[in-house]
Amino acid sequence: MAKDKISKLDILKIICIAASWVTVGVIFVLFILSELFHTTTSFEKGVIKTLDSTWTYTTGSGLSGECTFPVNIKVKFGESVDISTVLPDDIKDGQYLLWRTSRNHKLYIDGELRHQYNGEDAWLPGKVVKGKTWAIPLSAEDCGKTLRIFKDEAGANNGSFYKVSYGDMYGIVGSLWAENGFRFIASLLLLFISIVLLAVNFGISHIYGIRNLSFRLLAYGMMAVSVWAITDSYLYQVVFGDNFYSGLVGYMITPIMPIIFIRYMDEVQQHRYQKICIILVAALLVDELVICILHFGDILSFQRTLGANDTTVAIASAIAFFLIIKDAIDRKIKEYKWVAIGLVLLIMLTGYEMAFINLAYDYPTGTCMVVGIYALMACAMIHTVGDIITSERDKRAAIDASIVKSTFLANMSHEIRTPINSIIGMNEMILRENTDEDIAIYSDHIKRSCNLLMSIIGDVLDFSKIESGRFNLVTDPYKSADLVNDLYTFLSEQAAPQSLEVRTDISAAIPSVLEGDENRIKQIVINLITNAAKYTKSGFIGLKIYATEAPVDSKSSEINSGKNVILHFEVSDSGIGIREEDCTRLFDSFTRIDEKKNRNIQGTGLGLSIVKALTGIMNGNVTVKSAYGKGSTFCVEIPQHVVDELPIGEDWKFIKREKPAPNDYQASFKAPGKTILVVDDNESNLMVIRQLLKHTEVNTILIDNGRDAVGLCEQNKYDLILLDHMMPEFDGLDVLRTIKEHPFDLNYHTPVIVLTANATEGSRREYLEAGFDDYISKPVDGATLEGVLSKYLSEAPKAQEIDEAELKEVLEKTDASQIPDANYLEEFFGEEKFKQIMLYCGGRDFACRVMAKVADDSLKALSRMRLALDDGDLEAYALAAHSIKGMMGSACQGEIQVLARNHETAAKEGRKDFLEKDYDNFALEVSRFCLGVQRK
Ligand code: ADP
Repeated sequence: MAKDKISKLDILKIICIAASWVTVGVIFVLFILSELFHTTTSFEKGVIKTLDSTWTYTTGSGLSGECTFPVNIKVKFGESVDISTVLPDDIKDGQYLLWRTSRNHKLYIDGELRHQYNGEDAWLPGKVVKGKTWAIPLSAEDCGKTLRIFKDEAGANNGSFYKVSYGDMYGIVGSLWAENGFRFIASLLLLFISIVLLAVNFGISHIYGIRNLSFRLLAYGMMAVSVWAITDSYLYQVVFGDNFYSGLVGYMITPIMPIIFIRYMDEVQQHRYQKICIILVAALLVDELVICILHFGDILSFQRTLGANDTTVAIASAIAFFLIIKDAIDRKIKEYKWVAIGLVLLIMLTGYEMAFINLAYDYPTGTCMVVGIYALMACAMIHTVGDIITSERDKRAAIDASIVKSTFLANMSHEIRTPINSIIGMNEMILRENTDEDIAIYSDHIKRSCNLLMSIIGDVLDFSKIESGRFNLVTDPYKSADLVNDLYTFLSEQAAPQSLEVRTDISAAIPSVLEGDENRIKQIVINLITNAAKYTKSGFIGLKIYATEAPVDSKSSEINSGKNVILHFEVSDSGIGIREEDCTRLFDSFTRIDEKKNRNIQGTGLGLSIVKALTGIMNGNVTVKSAYGKGSTFCVEIPQHVVDELPIGEDWKFIKREKPAPNDYQASFKAPGKTILVVDDNESNLMVIRQLLKHTEVNTILIDNGRDAVGLCEQNKYDLILLDHMMPEFDGLDVLRTIKEHPFDLNYHTPVIVLTANATEGSRREYLEAGFDDYISKPVDGATLEGVLSKYLSEAPKAQEIDEAELKEVLEKTDASQIPDANYLEEFFGEEKFKQIMLYCGGRDFACRVMAKVADDSLKALSRMRLALDDGDLEAYALAAHSIKGMMGSACQGEIQVLARNHETAAKEGRKDFLEKDYDNFALEVSRFCLGVQRK
């Protein structure tokens, strides 16, 4: 049904399309036929003829002669011209004489005054200046009569005569359109485009807030040129009627046009020649003012100042032209080459037009300037499109660069942390074991320098995290007394070396428990305290802390519902101070103020930018007040959620921090008999770990590459593995994957802790997600290492807990009748081995079930190997061999495990000959073991 419907619809569609084409064809044929054969018209065909007879003239100073039109008889300013000729014999009734001129003229036919005009009669000061086309009625009787024209305007144009024509009104209007139509229509279109561009610009700037001055100036320029071209056109009169005063517009707008384009040029040249441009604009405005005063003051008409006016415009344009050429020579034109081409074309075409108006007697068609502005518009469009493409490309390049930068910073931090790890570790050993006082001092210096280096790396990392937007706050409740005490202790420590006075003003009303990122707050204030101490030679450094109630509508209320406070920290000093003008750029990244003066003070210029960014992230704010040479006060405000309103009072003073002296060192736990595997490609790091753990009595096996580590793990069961991430060839993740591949792998349940210099934000989470049990970042300190290890080594074997769930699954799947007897197995494996198996499996019962499963699965894997070998599928063979390898590990069958590994490797390497030869041997060993387990 549906199919029928569709095909009918299709037919209907085809019919409709065909009918439309037939209709179009009929219309076209009708049009052609009517054009060819229909000769009648309701309008008469226009007639226009040029009066090309010879004229006789006499000037006011008595000069006479003969000429043909067009002509420019050289007369003095204001000198009259009297010129006459004989009218032709073919003039018909209803025809007109068409001629053009501006002010003050009289026209006689055989002595009879047929037309006169006196522009001086106009009411506006400065009078009429616009030239006009006149149409004077003629009749057949005028044939052969003498036509006399008398011009006596107080201007320079009495001697110039354009052509004179005669004909009917259709012919007259037709000839006006033919001569001026292109420019007129082009100018109207230009006006329309400029209005559209301005509207678009207005819309974009209001909706998107993007302001583009050059775009707007271009539109204004186009508008000015179009208005000039429209009002100056001889068609204006035909379309809009006789408005003589419109002629003023062209003169007045002339200096405005270059002003707009010079400003446009200044914008695209990025204000390189701003001074020159301002001078040019000022000169053109003065020119405008002067010509208007002269004209409307009835002193000198626009016509008379036209030369000076145009000269000013020409000079300004020429200077603009040279600025573009200068840019071309200086190779700075690249960024605006299209606009430059457009501007040069406009200047050249306008120059030609102006020269034409001023030097030729003929009436210009005025097309050049309009063409010039169209050329500029096209070039500006190419420029704008290019700009958009370039800015898009730049944006992408900036994003790429930022990614490269972040990666570089993370790598750099990793590379620096690794050697520092050895330095700090070795140094800690010296501090722990040394008794010599001098060495203790040297060692202490090493420790301080390492700490400084670490804090710089921390700053760089923080900066990269903040910049890339990957910075996360860790919000938790904290005791404000602890925070205050820490800051106070830090302040005192910083003040001590230079014996600075410590001034504190801690409000007792601060709520005792707050919620926020305590560590980041500390980081902010510590940064400020460090700076205060750094930039103060004598006097004091001070810390004021107080809390105020957060305004209800402040951002702080967003952080949490319930009560919030603003925590204020004011860090002051009597140091070098900061100049007022420097205060604004103080928080810019990498900015150091007074570099010369401070060159002996260590710094990267990152501290304050991090302070600003962190306070911003916490919806807070940082400000600075400073008197140069006297000191500074940095004020930080951070909104915090109140957990307990109880005021801290003096609590913070009584917190005691225990700081064991290095020589008092005592291991926090002892685990003799436990063996841990430490894997790191850096030998000194291995040594550091061994030394740091010396007092815990843990047995440390050190290995410097991932492959050997895997080998060891296949043979031995460890209590814990400390694994470096970045190692050549086989890295920490590869090792982890291999040793945790199968639940029966020997170290499947061994806790694996990653030891890495990758300390970027989120590293911990990523490592835990990858399967590590814990994370320790380098450089590792003894206390952290002990703290983490004690969790795993001093507790009961973790394997037991994990086994429970997984082995339950094994239990459910294993057929009870197949489970071997425990006593039998004990005998079969031998007491020692069976104990070990029970330890892995977490109990006697489970051990029996697991061994049943191992035997069953291994036999199945064996037959898979045989099939794979017959099919030549070495990949499947390796896989099956691998699973037997893991299972034999859990069954403590080291020898079979080695055989399985050999088969796996041979399969991976494609050594089929070996497999064919050795399979039976291998199968025999595996079967002997499996059947042995299964035999009850
Ligand atoms: P730096 O690592 O250079 O100290 P910061 O970003 O912390 O970087 O500070 C930027 C600049 O601000 C410093 O180089 C220093 O000129 C000026 N500055 C910061 N704190 C103070 C202060 N307490 N007194 C005087 N100048 C300071």
